Amino acid sequence: MGRIVVKVGSNVLTRPDGKPNVTNMSALVDQIAALTARGHEVILISSGAVACGRGAVTPRRQLDSVAARQLFSSVGQIRLINIYNDLFAHYGIPVGQVLTQKENFSSRTSYLNQRSCMLTMLENGVIPIVNENDTASLTELMFTDNDELSGLVAAMMDADTLVILSNVDGIFTGPPADPASKLIPVVRSGEDVSGNVVASKSGFGRGGMGTKCGIAGKVSEEGVRVIIARGDRPDVLVDLIERPESVPHTLFEPRPEPLSNIKRWIAHSASFAKGCVTVNDRAAEALRGDRAVSLLPVGVTAVEGEWEEGDIITILDPAGSTVAVGRASVDSATALASMGCRGSRPLVHYDYLYTEF
Ligand code: GLU
Repeated sequence: MGRIVVKVGSNVLTRPDGKPNVTNMSALVDQIAALTARGHEVILISSGAVACGRGAVTPRRQLDSVAARQLFSSVGQIRLINIYNDLFAHYGIPVGQVLTQKENFSSRTSYLNQRSCMLTMLENGVIPIVNENDTASLTELMFTDNDELSGLVAAMMDADTLVILSNVDGIFTGPPADPASKLIPVVRSGEDVSGNVVASKSGFGRGGMGTKCGIAGKVSEEGVRVIIARGDRPDVLVDLIERPESVPHTLFEPRPEPLSNIKRWIAHSASFAKGCVTVNDRAAEALRGDRAVSLLPVGVTAVEGEWEEGDIITILDPAGSTVAVGRASVDSATALASMGCRGSRPLVHYDYLYTEF
């Protein structure tokens, strides 16, 4: 039996008038209840707070986008969670609300704290229902959208499968509305299909197919199976898990050897880097190669920023492109002092280095 992260977008959960789409929510809850009854563990990433709130309250004056998001999400999130609570109660399944924000993924301690919270919920038969804390998140520090959040959670929780339910059947070879476009059923490990995705987004949510495709590619390369499918098809979730051939979808095959949990955390942490080092061509080539190598001071040509041991840093090639992200084994002063030297201890050990760029 597996651990499944299910992400549902605002367009599946909200009607065009902004009211919660209780029909779709109820169908989703029925399916999650069926999967848990069969022994699967499910974590639900649910958008829809802002959209539900927009249908419930009319601002008394013109609001800027931050104030509007805060107002709507504060009202919409309780509506959303109350509906889930009632629907799951029919099955005797307790649900718990997890509101999070990007900073909670920035240090290993807060990352592990969130992980253990959700593990405890799962161990106790509680379904975590996760959303971004839109009342508190700062615009510049927000997740791109809940697709990004779902990828982080799937990687953090060592999920077997991430299912992203949207309003289209998956990734197409062209615009989904064009009859000449074909659904791409399988994306192999290492294959890049982002060129097929039309840069557009529809309806209420923040995300579009571009971010879904990027997240799916990244998370599957960390060892999680990712499926993109249409959320309002009857029994879509149960079918995807039990009879995948019966429902249209795009499957991103996972890389055969999953990354360790710490490498997965580092893979998503580039935006939290406290500094960066530039390396020479030789070191960049070694880091990009297939062999397991650590970052040694001898290849370092510049050190920027101030960091402590254990912080995240980025590693750049001479042209300024990112080669790797890693967790520093020494602080920035030590890194600077040992720059270019042979025989000093690694700046980043291989086990704490993510190089898939
Ligand atoms: N957190 C937002 C909400 O619940 C949704 C973000 C997104 O659309 O991905 O309304």
